[in-house]
Amino acid sequence: MSRHEDCIFCKIIEGEIPSAKVYEDEDVYAFLDISQVTKGHTLVIPKKHVKNIYETDAETAEKLFARVPRIAEGIKQAFNPNGMNVLNNNEEAAGQTVFHLHLHLIPRYGKEDGFG
Ligand code: 5GP
Ligand code: ZN
Repeated sequence: MSRHEDCIFCKIIEGEIPSAKVYEDEDVYAFLDISQVTKGHTLVIPKKHVKNIYETDAETAEKLFARVPRIAEGIKQAFNPNGMNVLNNNEEAAGQTVFHLHLHLIPRYGKEDGFG
């Protein structure tokens, strides 16, 4: 897969940086975010290195988004949240800090995390 040398998420995919794996197939990898906004906060990334949504080909986007319902259902089963946010930051101005495309799946529990 097109790895980018200085990319921490490419290193996570290859196991050079440890991560708590949530899901993996030939195209997509999902793992717990190191700073959990809520319990079960997960990042879903394509194995192909693309910087963000602006630089993503349709095939990579399709594969990435196609896996989200299944991964979200797994998180729901494991953590039993009441809802979930799916977020994506593109470029620094929008809060992107790691420049390998990723979706945040953030389980929501209601009052205890500020909602409800
Ligand atoms: P962004 O701000 O780019 O949308 O999100 C990047 C996310 O990557 C942040 O929520 C941050 O906590 C997470 N992150 C950064 N470095 C690591 C790491 O080495 N391991 C894991 N599991 N998450 C990381
Ligand atoms: Zn990368």
